Amino acid sequence: MPPDRRSERQAALRVALGAEGLDGLLVTHLPNIRYLTGFTGSAAVLLVREDTTILISDFRYASQAPLEVGAAATVEIDQRSVWERLGRVLAARAAGRLGIESHSLTVRDAERVSGLTRGPVVPVTDLVEGLRAVKSPEEVAAIRAAAALAQDSLAEVLPSIRVGQTEVEVGAMLEGALRRRGSEWHPFPTIVASGARSALPHARTSQKAVAAGELLLLDFGAQVDGYCADLTRTLVVGARADERQRTVHELVQTAQRRAIEHLRPGMPAREGDALARDVITSRGFGDAFGRSLGHGLGLEVHEAPRLAPTSETPLPPHAVVTVEPGVYFPGWGGVRLEDDVYLGPNGTECLSDGRTELLELV
Ligand code: ZN
Ligand code: ZN
Repeated sequence: MPPDRRSERQAALRVALGAEGLDGLLVTHLPNIRYLTGFTGSAAVLLVREDTTILISDFRYASQAPLEVGAAATVEIDQRSVWERLGRVLAARAAGRLGIESHSLTVRDAERVSGLTRGPVVPVTDLVEGLRAVKSPEEVAAIRAAAALAQDSLAEVLPSIRVGQTEVEVGAMLEGALRRRGSEWHPFPTIVASGARSALPHARTSQKAVAAGELLLLDFGAQVDGYCADLTRTLVVGARADERQRTVHELVQTAQRRAIEHLRPGMPAREGDALARDVITSRGFGDAFGRSLGHGLGLEVHEAPRLAPTSETPLPPHAVVTVEPGVYFPGWGGVRLEDDVYLGPNGTECLSDGRTELLELV
């Protein structure tokens, strides 16, 4: 059995609350609730105060919530309304400064919470997310397992990819393999983008058929024990790569390898991004790399920290991030390569296989 981290996570949150001068936090972002209590359902609020942790959910989770949460929180199930129950729970306790997660609560619900408590309601952001950015060994292992599952699925599907198949058909083969191999769900809609469409960094998989000699970009994920992996590979189908495809691929590969090798915890995120961006810019393609180098991975596929060109925030030790440089030319296509990297105290470790060689499916 892996160690149960929930009480130590809640203790760390209480320290963070103290530092913010808060008497409690109303946790409404579901991945944060899962992190703190183990609850995986779709409807709950969690009140964390100095002396109590109370999960309030509805009748659908009457049996599931106590099973998942165990001793990590007191579970209250309300047949009518989670918010009414929260009001009674708050009324029964001394009023204090109550934090709310401003990034997850709607304005309407924030107003509702203000009406339920006598004390001040204080919007905060990313308190739990900051804790989640620092991964335990079990969390790193789950992401590694998800990455292995994803790359095995790709290896299974590659021999079946043919010119003339639609992007949706290729996506279906890949998603089928991911699920058969045990991915709990697709953490995001699989991207299969061919030809000029590969220049759209967030392309929707379409009914377009893959033509010979086109770039084919596959961006896909897997989930194990709730933890996500996120990989991108770009290949050429039905022909050898042409000169330009080869050049662009090699540039992106060089940029990605440099970043994976030199990323370090403590480095400002902007510097991490620059490891890859400088390579691309020095070859005159800076304008074609129009987004961040990567993002944190965990219970969510996009979480802290962000490897953004504008962020001065130091990368936390034990974070897991994607490293995904891309070069995109509208009308021609794009190449993106993405691997998942653990920022260990003694250096980086690629959790995915880093096999980014240019595949030519001929
Ligand atoms: Zn991705
Ligand atoms: Zn990504």
